[in-house]
Amino acid sequence: MNNSEIFQLSQKYMPGGVNSPVRAFKGLEIDPPVIKRGEGAYIYDENDKKYIDFVGAWGPMLLGHKDEDVISSMKEALDNGLAFGAPTYLELELAKFMCETLENVDMVRMVNSGTEATMSAVKLARGYTGRDKIIKFSGCYHGHFDGFLVSAGSGVLTGGIPGSAGVPKGSISNTLVAEYNNISSVKAIFNAFGEDIAAVIIEPVAGNMGVIKAEDAFMNELRALCDANRSLLIFDEVMSGFRVAYKGAQSLFDVKPDLVTYAKIMGGGMPCGAYGGRRDIMEKLSPSGPIYQAGTMSGNPIVMTAGIATLKKLHSNPMYYENIEKYGAMLEREIKDILSQKGIANVINRCGGMMTLFFTKNENVKTYDDVKTCDIDLFNKYFTHMLSEGIYLPPSQYEAMFLSVKHGDKEIQSFSEALRRL
Ligand SMILES: *Cc1c(COP(=O)(O)O)cnc(C)c1O
Repeated sequence: MNNSEIFQLSQKYMPGGVNSPVRAFKGLEIDPPVIKRGEGAYIYDENDKKYIDFVGAWGPMLLGHKDEDVISSMKEALDNGLAFGAPTYLELELAKFMCETLENVDMVRMVNSGTEATMSAVKLARGYTGRDKIIKFSGCYHGHFDGFLVSAGSGVLTGGIPGSAGVPKGSISNTLVAEYNNISSVKAIFNAFGEDIAAVIIEPVAGNMGVIKAEDAFMNELRALCDANRSLLIFDEVMSGFRVAYKGAQSLFDVKPDLVTYAKIMGGGMPCGAYGGRRDIMEKLSPSGPIYQAGTMSGNPIVMTAGIATLKKLHSNPMYYENIEKYGAMLEREIKDILSQKGIANVINRCGGMMTLFFTKNENVKTYDDVKTCDIDLFNKYFTHMLSEGIYLPPSQYEAMFLSVKHGDKEIQSFSEALRRL
């Protein structure tokens, strides 16, 4: 079957034809390619069309597709069986490696996705502080957990309105929404509810409204506000962890989080997540403490093996991050040059190998409101053109594109040539 035959039939058996909404290309006039295989910086669809992949499975494939070390260690692990639901040496190996190579992570708990990591971290923060309310930022995504699905309503002090059908008002009545990079919006919430706030959760480099890096002063003040109110600060590094630097976004700031969440890259392409942080907080988790969180598949040996191989390879090759920075900067310059020749207004926000090209006339993009100034028709035209040229990008203006260690001069050049033909 070709791409469109598969996608047509998929819609009969899976809602929208997909298992995660963004894959369906809603809002665009084309159907998504159906992907068959990947290798290095490239993916191939069921029509045997080849693409340079700037999505990387939405972040995880930092090493590129089919990394030989990850695949071979997984093949070896498969010989021992798939799952035991019991302690394994592999869990210890990954947990120990993460605690030793990351900062502010004394202990970790493995889970199966980013959503599970963030919702569990919030539960832990609530159990630890004995408080119910959390602060999140408009435009930040922390997974599909009910309590995070709050629209970026303008009423900062209100509980917000659910951003999805099926989310009871009660589930979000303890979720307060502040504005990214706007410390007074956070102060206002702390002034009103300080005693009740268990935690503030933030993407320190946001990727889910397009790339926006938090400002240093904002992060410093956020930490101070949390301290003053004895609330916990949770960094959601599901996307930025091991991406913007091995040690993640927190290494870019002078601020220590109390809890950190990971997923995506740490699973090397397998379903995986983890949350970790201060020992005195983590020890409140069951069975050592009273806060219950569990998972039949958590710490699965095959997943742990992929994580260990991926993180060890990244950690022992710091030049990967230097190269990604180099090619990221090159790509950014190329896009800037080409679009300025074409007279197309834009802002590019980039943090290492994650970046977003915003089609806006704004001078910069620092908040969710800035993001909303983008020309979506122009984005859709750009996206559709690039896809036809074999450049596979995230199908939304509000997402980050990613480089892998396998992207080099040739891939950047192909991108530029395609963009020139826009
Ligand atoms: C992707 C993402 C999540 C959700 O992770 P899933 O594995 O899709 O559940 C949470 N937080 C951030 C910052 C993410 O980018």
